[in-house]
Amino acid sequence: MAQTEEEYLKLLDRAFEEIPQKAKVVGNQVIPNLVIFNVGPNTVIKNFREYCDRIRREERLVMKYLLKELGAPGSVNESGQLVIQGKFSSSSINTLMDRFLKIYVRCSTCGSYDTVLKKEGKVWYVSCLACGAQTPVKPI
Ligand SMILES: [Zn+2]
Repeated sequence: MAQTEEEYLKLLDRAFEEIPQKAKVVGNQVIPNLVIFNVGPNTVIKNFREYCDRIRREERLVMKYLLKELGAPGSVNESGQLVIQGKFSSSSINTLMDRFLKIYVRCSTCGSYDTVLKKEGKVWYVSCLACGAQTPVKPI
């Protein structure tokens, strides 16, 4: 019983709608878990756009970080899903995203995830909305 990729994606969509989305709560922030699955030779992060919105980081930036670390090409499709060329396990992607959160989102002074990333020329820093601390970070 062969299925086209499109049918497969529809089935997955339906399956995911029935699963309550898990999320972790950090302080007063709710950060959703990434919904990751493999489709053929690709890896898809289904809720990529929503995730980037929640952590207040540009899709482009988060994508650049992930693709660089994975050493794979990819792009965000019109549904806001990140499609990565290559098969990657959800645990390796989650590990990278946790690292991203720790470096580029979490305030190293108070631990809040309620922060924004500011760029001034070549200097980037995480600016905390909770305690006001500004922590320089390495540009991606
Ligand atoms: Zn802070």
